Order: sequence, then C-alpha cells, then structure tokens
Amino acid sequence: MSGYVLAIDQGTTSSRAIVFDDRFAVRGIGQQEFDQHFPDSGWVEHDAEDLWRTTVETVRAALAAARLSAGDIAAIGITNQRETTVVWDRATGKPIHRAIVWQDRRTAARCAQLKAEGHEPTVTEKTGLLLDPYFSGTKLAWILDTVPGARARAEAGELAFGTVDSWLIWHLTGGARHVTDATNASRTLLYNIREGCWDQDMLRLLAIHEAVLPEVLDCAADFGVTRRDLFGAAIPILGVAGDQQAATVGQACFAPGMLKSTYGTGCFALLNTGTTPVRSTNRLLTTIAYRLDGEVTYALEGAIFVAGAAIQWLRDGLGVIERAEQSAALAAEADPNQAVYLVPAFTGLGAPHWDPDARGALFGLTRATGPRELAQAALESVCFQTADLIDAMHADWSDDAGETVLRVDGGMVANDWLMQRLTDLLAAPVDRPVVLETTALGAAWLAGHKAGVWPDRDGFAAQWRLDRRFEPAMAEDQRAAKLLGWRDAVGRTLSVRG
Ligand code: ADP
Repeated sequence: MSGYVLAIDQGTTSSRAIVFDDRFAVRGIGQQEFDQHFPDSGWVEHDAEDLWRTTVETVRAALAAARLSAGDIAAIGITNQRETTVVWDRATGKPIHRAIVWQDRRTAARCAQLKAEGHEPTVTEKTGLLLDPYFSGTKLAWILDTVPGARARAEAGELAFGTVDSWLIWHLTGGARHVTDATNASRTLLYNIREGCWDQDMLRLLAIHEAVLPEVLDCAADFGVTRRDLFGAAIPILGVAGDQQAATVGQACFAPGMLKSTYGTGCFALLNTGTTPVRSTNRLLTTIAYRLDGEVTYALEGAIFVAGAAIQWLRDGLGVIERAEQSAALAAEADPNQAVYLVPAFTGLGAPHWDPDARGALFGLTRATGPRELAQAALESVCFQTADLIDAMHADWSDDAGETVLRVDGGMVANDWLMQRLTDLLAAPVDRPVVLETTALGAAWLAGHKAGVWPDRDGFAAQWRLDRRFEPAMAEDQRAAKLLGWRDAVGRTLSVRG
C-alpha cells in the first residue's frame, strides 16, 4: 500500500489539507479561509457549513497539487481548532446554530455563577479544566437553552453535539459515524479525564443529555471511511487529535518531560507528564496529550494570548515595521542600556496569571526609546511569558531526568533573534525542527501508523529532524536582572482584584 497520508487541519481562520509522503515530506497543500462572524461583543461564530465545504475543497486541492487521486491515499488524519462547538440535526445533518468558536466569551456569566456556587474544584478534579467560557460545555448548554425546542429534541435523540472533528467525520462518512477522540473530548468540560468517560455529574451540572454526545475513541482508531462520491474513492479516517495535541505528537514529544511550544498569534505550551494526570496548583490545565492503544498520556498546558499578536501590533497598531520579520533586525540594534518592558496584556493575561481584566503596559521609557527598543520589548515579552509558563509547569511537576528541552514551531520561530533570546532567558536549549507543519504531521502520523504504512512511535520519533538547536549564551546575572524587571512589570500590570 502507498505511504501517502492526508492530514485535514481545520483551523480557526482557515481549513487546510496536506498530503505527506512516507518520508514525511509535504507533497501537496490546499488552503482556504472562511468568514468569521462577530454577532455581539465577545461573540465569535463560524458557519459549520463553511468548515465542511472548505474542508472538502481543500482536500480536493491538496490531492490535485500532489497529482494523486483518493485511491493513492492510505489514510486521513484530522486535527482541528479545539473546543469550538457544533450542534446538528441527525436527520438532515444541518446545524441548528452557528458553531460557537473557542474564543467566544458569551457564557462568562454562566461560568462566573457556577464558580460562585463553588463548583470549580470538582470541575477541575474531573476535567482538568477551569470554569471558563473557553471550553465547549457551557457553549453547548447555551445552544440547547437558546434554540427553541432544542433541549426536548436533544433528549429525544434527534440532535448531535460535536467538536469540529466530530462534525467533519459525520459528514465525511455520510452520517455513519458520530465519534470523537480523547483529546477533543478532554476539552469539552464534560469528559472525566481520570476515568476516561463522559462524566455524569458534569452532564447533570450543565443539564446535558447523554444522547447528544459522540463516542470517544483513541487518537489512532477506526473513525470510519469517507463517502466514495466525495473524493472518488473511500479513504479510511484513522487519526484524530485537537490541534495542540497533534503538534505535541508531530514534535514527537512522547516521553515525560518533553515540552513543545507553538508560537503563532498566541502561544500554547504542552508538557508531557506521562500516564498520571498532574493537578496544577498554578492554574495550568491538565489535559489528555494523546490516547494510544487505550493508554492515556497526560499533559500540562499553558496558553499565552499574545505572542505573534504583539508583532502584529508593532506593524498594524504602531506602524514601526512593515513586515513581521523586520522585528528581528530592529531588536538586534536595541540600546542595551535601556530596560524597556512590554506586558502585552491586550486581552488580559493567561496562565499562570489568569487576569482577564489586566490591560497592556510599557515600562522603562526614556526620551531615547524608539522602535528598536519597542521591537526588542515585544519579542522579549514572548520569551518572558514562556519562562513564566515553564516555571509554573516545573512548580507543578518536575522530572528528575534532567534538563528541559523546548521543541518549538509556529510562524514566529523563523525569527532567529527571538529563538536566541528565548534560549537565553529560559537558560535551556530550544530545538527548531526541519518540518514546521507539526500539527498536520502529528495527525498524519496517527493515521499513517494506524494504517500500517508509517513507522511506530519510536521509529517516528527517531526520524524527527532538527533544523537548529539554540543554546543559552547570556550571562546569568543579566538574565536574572531581566527576569526581575519583567516580574516587576507584570506585578504593576495586574488588575486590582478583591
Ligand atoms: P496563526 O496560526 O496563529 O495564524 P502563524 O503560526 O501563522 O499564526 O504565525 C503568524 C504570527 O507570527 C503572526 O502573529 C506574525 O506576526 C508572527 N510572525 C511571523 N513571522 C515572524 C517573524 N519573523 N518574527 C516575529 N513574528 C513573526
């Protein structure tokens, strides 16, 4: 059988499909953006039909670009924007409401109420998550409460809920399968990550009827086969993982202590903690990294809201650069005697601070401060935030095996100045792989391995290729002084809370 595997990467702003060959090289890509809907302040929606239509079109485009037909593809792997919530009618396959996107804050009041009632410790114990609108559970409850008749129809078994993977698989298989994988399930607020099942108490708390939920499978499993008429031949769907988990797999972070960080608009870091879930005392999330052959591997996860977005602000807000890559040359010329700090809390601060009301601030300005120092401060803010996340992770869990190595990916890691400053401020090596399509590659590996055409876990990990390792070179006293300055700046930026 061929070693070609197709990854569907259904993201927040675009849908992509990538064909990989059996040496993990990209043979063809299709990509399409779709409309974002902002019906109210803090609300973000996608038309689920757009997600489906662009997925089908990009799969066809990727096959055409690779000059292959569906019959040449051994398997499909799916990775997706996580937490985004779709409810559809089982009889017609039509959504009953637009998809509510992970960024959507409409259920903030509901979450605050549940927190005030004292539910958060139990929720965290069972799901590894926090009572935050980010996760699917309160979004699903909102749809069932808001769409007329939805609750009754849900109880009658007429409706289906899914994250985007489930929605796509339902349609790819012509309605034959209503399934998801353990990583996507672990982001719903409804799944007990310790017991590995939908949690009856969580369902009761949010008044969700079990009839709407998908079956939860391993990340590498039989998710069904595509309708023959879609691509010209039936292709088995054999791998599924949420985007950050797929990147963890694509980075081959299979051993406890391995850490990956993805630097795009925001930044997501996942630390593999092995087969025991670690409870965070630093407000990190406990989540399922992957489930293979029935065995769950857990991760601690931390998110930074503003990473590349700080560079976008330099470009679009301040106009001090025209293209993101110019930030490196500018920062390299910054005056070393100025201690300028940007705390990019444009939309509050994420882990480990979790201060939604904080707003951004610049510290240490003098008459001599200019674009160079601002570029440096923006790039350094990404490093400092990563250092805070890793400190929190190590406070929650430490691996006696030794030093931390960070595997990085995402659009920002092309910036060598940033990578060097990151390793300097972390005082730990930073590894940048050759293949930066780690999210799609992770999904492809899950499927390709299950199909028997790609190597096993160890074989795949052995073929992970380093592009460049960045090693710390900054003097320890300089690093300590910089971190002290950052902590002071963050302390002054946090909102005044009761
Ligand atoms: P996303 O998947 O979130 O859209 P990407 O992984 O495509 O993000 O990365 C894009 C982000 O990376 C943008 O915010 C952009 O400003 C930033 N970026 C891209 N190239 C560079 C660079 N050379 N230096 C700094 N930031 C960069």
